[in-house]
Amino acid sequence: MYLVFRSPGGVSSRKGERNTRKVPDTFQIREWPLAPPPDHCPTLVLNADFRPLSYFPLSLWSWQEAVKAVFLDRVNIISEYDRVVRSPTFEIKLPSVISLKEFIPATRRPAFTRFNVFLRDRFTCQYCGHHFPTQELTFDHVIPRSRGGRTTWDNVVTSCSACNLAKGNWLPHSCGMIPLSPPFQPSAYQLQENGRAFPPNFLHESWRDFLYWDTELDPM
Ligand SMILES: [Zn+2]
Repeated sequence: MYLVFRSPGGVSSRKGERNTRKVPDTFQIREWPLAPPPDHCPTLVLNADFRPLSYFPLSLWSWQEAVKAVFLDRVNIISEYDRVVRSPTFEIKLPSVISLKEFIPATRRPAFTRFNVFLRDRFTCQYCGHHFPTQELTFDHVIPRSRGGRTTWDNVVTSCSACNLAKGNWLPHSCGMIPLSPPFQPSAYQLQENGRAFPPNFLHESWRDFLYWDTELDPM
């Protein structure tokens, strides 16, 4: 990383100060003719082991959050955009990849949320096997609640609306609708692995080494 602090006598470089800097409130944006707006410069956030904090959704911070974390000395800058932001006393290239200085362990038991159920099931209806966008998915109780089924990891599967309606209050074997994969409590690792299958809409060149997709990337 580099930071340039302008002093009246010229330019000096300082680094390595811990938590003593005041985070500037405002930045003046240098307007390069071809530079992207800073809002188009999200920062990929890596854990201290250089793996993304999260794959899906991909762990991205706004440039403001990233610059603030740099000033608080909580992250290392791994890669930068060509975009520069300035305050009256310093300038900084916007970070494109940062890594946390302190490792954040993954929670061993992921939260039981609708999103994580979809992620466990890879956004695929567990009855018809089709892939749907999130807004067209719901979840289904394998053993219906009316028959004592509980809302737990091992009784809830991702379902499209049509299959959910068709199954209604039937037991799986009564209606022949048996989940493609038996529902289970996933580990944080399993969810991470599933998330890797979903590339983000925007992928900056500098992120490539840190994401393990070996598919051909669209030029940006
Ligand atoms: Zn379905």
